Amino acid sequence: MNIDYSKCTDEQLRVAIAKWMGIAFCPSCLNELPDPDVCHCGDIRKNHPVDHGFVPMGCVCGYADQSKVIKGTIPNYPNSLDAVALVEAKLNRNQYLDYAEWIREIVYAADNNQTDAEFDFSCFTATARQRCEALAAVLQLPEVKL
Ligand SMILES: [Zn+2]
Ligand SMILES: [Zn+2]
Repeated sequence: MNIDYSKCTDEQLRVAIAKWMGIAFCPSCLNELPDPDVCHCGDIRKNHPVDHGFVPMGCVCGYADQSKVIKGTIPNYPNSLDAVALVEAKLNRNQYLDYAEWIREIVYAADNNQTDAEFDFSCFTATARQRCEALAAVLQLPEVKL
């Protein structure tokens, strides 16, 4: 099963990478949940009162009082080199080699008129989106349905 990550949307890549990073988030509003077992009211799940539904802290879509929502959206990896750098830092040595290959391939696919120097510099010039595609390939991230 080879997924063509170039066909994924930014949001699909974003969610796939956030999952791999172990970030807990609401699948609907994509807001990060600082602790999925704590409700907006401050009660932890097992002691939660029954007078209102459990809505994890951080979730926007499930909470009626939007003014009290703690906003913490998951990092926008395909649009942020800073965010991507956090993922790159988790790769091991073998994954780095694989990653560099994928970066070259992806950058070359986008522009095959590169000079040799440009090709060699792919790992420095790749966009956040291109890096996300390469990361998804290296980490063999499962396809995300949104
Ligand atoms: Zn509550
Ligand atoms: Zn939500």
